[in-house]
Amino acid sequence: MADDILKTEVLIVGAGAVGLAIARELGDVCVLEKNESYGMEVSSRNSEVIHAGLYYSQDSLKTKLCVEGNPLLRSYLSENDLPHLVCGKMVVATEQGEVEAVERLFENARKNGVQGISLTTDVSESVSAKMALYSATTGIFDVHAYMKSLFHKARDAGALFSFGSEVVDIQKTNGGFLIETADGEKVLAERVINSAGLKSDIVANKLGLNYKLYPCKGDYFAIRGAAGKLDHLVYPSPSTSKYGLGVHATINLQGEVRLGPDTTYVDEMNFDVDPNKSQKFYESALKFLPWLKHDMLYPDTSGIRPKLQAPGKGFADFVIKEEMPGFINLVGIESPGLTASLSIARMVKGMI
Ligand SMILES: Cc1cc2nc3c(=O)[nH]c(=O)nc-3n(C[C@H](O)[C@H](O)[C@H](O)COP(=O)(O)OP(=O)(O)OC[C@H]3O[C@@H](n4cnc5c(N)ncnc54)[C@H](O)[C@@H]3O)c2cc1C
Repeated sequence: MADDILKTEVLIVGAGAVGLAIARELGDVCVLEKNESYGMEVSSRNSEVIHAGLYYSQDSLKTKLCVEGNPLLRSYLSENDLPHLVCGKMVVATEQGEVEAVERLFENARKNGVQGISLTTDVSESVSAKMALYSATTGIFDVHAYMKSLFHKARDAGALFSFGSEVVDIQKTNGGFLIETADGEKVLAERVINSAGLKSDIVANKLGLNYKLYPCKGDYFAIRGAAGKLDHLVYPSPSTSKYGLGVHATINLQGEVRLGPDTTYVDEMNFDVDPNKSQKFYESALKFLPWLKHDMLYPDTSGIRPKLQAPGKGFADFVIKEEMPGFINLVGIESPGLTASLSIARMVKGMI
């Protein structure tokens, strides 16, 4: 091997929330990120919710890592004085036919070991519901502030970041892996961690691993003049969507309310929000927000999920595994990936 090849023990591909959390946990690593800074992709276009782990089955990684990640994340945010609010969440049954689904969700959450959940008929005046599941440990946070903190802690712990470095090839060698970037930089690493978000399938494909992600877009509509109307998040009964949690109402740290995200499988990375969807969002949310008027809605942002679940297919879990000695693959890290980021990092550390 030529001497000008950079050598590192551990190389991380991608500096989103997950790659940053792993870099902070491991310290002495090299991180290659194709963009000019960290956290510019999936981690910057999402609901910024600290989930509790209500929805998925007990044996899934999504549940395990979310239930572990929720208190880890809340402690991290408190200890580091980062903006967040544990505001709670209601999953509402707006008609009698939905009550059973909400009760089933409660039972599922209980089996998952989620703390602070209850069934209640005591809902606030600004929400219309027959009854609801209340989750006290659900919250919201400033994801950018969180990533900035992870980035600085990772650097302080010895992580080396190279921005504008797109990994275009990975080859297995005797001593590990030879990684090549778009501008010809070469790195020899004993271990590689693939946390490349929407491109993690393509990175895995370089080593002959057969993965395909199905990008799934979620649009948001903001609600004009609704600041302060809600003091917790409101989600519909879980029966309303096959690919997401159903159009729900979230608040941000300023108390503003927005609706979304919906789910649409897409072929291109276009983040425009189609204003014609507003009627659909309005009708979905009117069921639980009785004060809503159509003209209060306006297009907000959107995000794209790195889904392993193909259109028309069933649930797909996170993939986090050592696929071959030294290559740890993280694919399909959609929601609740932010909530789980610190527990994912711990899990990856345990694999090394
Ligand atoms: C609409 C939406 C709402 C969501 N809401 C929530 C929520 O409320 N709560 C929650 O917990 N989770 C939520 N999620 C999920 C969460 O956002 C993701 O799980 C998380 O951000 C994934 O982080 P990541 O680091 O894996 O991916 P990313 O943030 O996308 O980071 C991957 C990085 O890899 C880089 N990269 C890709 N290819 C290469 C390459 N070849 N070479 C070098 N670098 C590369 C990218 O540039 C990127 O910076 C939501 C997701 C979406 C889309």
